[in-house]
Amino acid sequence: MSHDRHDDGFATRAIHAGQDPEPVTGAVTVPIFQTSTFAQPRVGEHTGYEYARTGNPTRTALETCLAALEGAERAVAFASGLAAEDAVFRLLSPGDHVLMADDVYGGTWRQIAKVHQRFGLEVSAVDLSDLDAVRAGLRPTTRYLWAETPSNPLLKILDLAALAELAHDHGARLVADNTFATPALQLPLALGADLVVHSTTKYLGGHSDVVGGAVCTDAATAEELAFLQNAVGAVPGPFDAWLTLRGAKTLEVRMERHSTNADRIARFLAEHDAVTEVAYPGLPDHPSHDLASRQMSRFGGMVSFRVAGGVDAAKRVAEATRLFFLAESLGGVESLIEHPGIMTHASVAGTALEVPDDLLRLSVGIETVDDLLADLAHALERAEGQ
Ligand SMILES: *Cc1c(COP(=O)(O)O)cnc(C)c1O
Repeated sequence: MSHDRHDDGFATRAIHAGQDPEPVTGAVTVPIFQTSTFAQPRVGEHTGYEYARTGNPTRTALETCLAALEGAERAVAFASGLAAEDAVFRLLSPGDHVLMADDVYGGTWRQIAKVHQRFGLEVSAVDLSDLDAVRAGLRPTTRYLWAETPSNPLLKILDLAALAELAHDHGARLVADNTFATPALQLPLALGADLVVHSTTKYLGGHSDVVGGAVCTDAATAEELAFLQNAVGAVPGPFDAWLTLRGAKTLEVRMERHSTNADRIARFLAEHDAVTEVAYPGLPDHPSHDLASRQMSRFGGMVSFRVAGGVDAAKRVAEATRLFFLAESLGGVESLIEHPGIMTHASVAGTALEVPDDLLRLSVGIETVDDLLADLAHALERAEGQ
């Protein structure tokens, strides 16, 4: 079993947890064990690996590393963030209730509302930053409080410690989606959360080249999740696990650079005449800046802003950048820009969660920040133009 190195520093764990040299050849990089089955020395005896849905050494290395990064007893990896969330919901039974943040990732809401509700789970949504609303929303059957912070795309901050306390007083568990902050900036389990879910597709993988997910939690819950991983089968292949592990090695340095670049860009946008509002938890006038400062070590790479001149001006800006690619998703080394109202958040149009139509969201990459600033400055000239 690979060493989990829980006592080492974050960057050391990222590079070494679960990643001892391969014992046969000494390869310093965990191999891609591209095999579906494992030869057994005798009938009824095996090496710890029998069949690759049940377990694969590349996947084990990733799981060991992710657990070490989140400070969890164990992590269980899945084929996508939504597959990880599916397993978390499958721990519940018909009649159980989930209380969600009213601005959770749209795919999370779609999954519980359109899939798990048909099998008897109940769900409702409130603003989890309003603790009175949370208390009012809890039911005797509530099993999970489901939080995502910072939120998407408005970068609202939730108080994870307060939510954990409320959940526990009620006999429920706090699930935290830590995709946006990552364990490099925020450790929900240390703040009292019971399960952390990830889309490793985003910052953990970090290079926009793989889709994956994970759940980090206590050993007993992870055992149930590993049962589901095998019984339901939404496993990541060995190459996907390897790419994610490769990405995770540089998570800390990338998150520092994402945060530094995003901070510069947020300050630049806040001063710009063509920008009416900037959402970035690192700005002192962000409504939850103090909470974010306590809960996060840096403020991450996501910045949203509203463009003067409305939806048409916002569309012109989004189409005028050259380095910021116009694309959905986030968390890669390259910068992206998108229009949430028309792109990622079109499905919430007409609901209370509708986002302003002059809002743009940036996933700030780790390029040279002066180039990113010049790109945005140039694109913002188009806000007023034709
Ligand atoms: C992308 C994302 C998900 C879903 O993950 P996939 O890997 O796309 O399945 C869940 N939560 C958040 C916050 C995300 O950004």
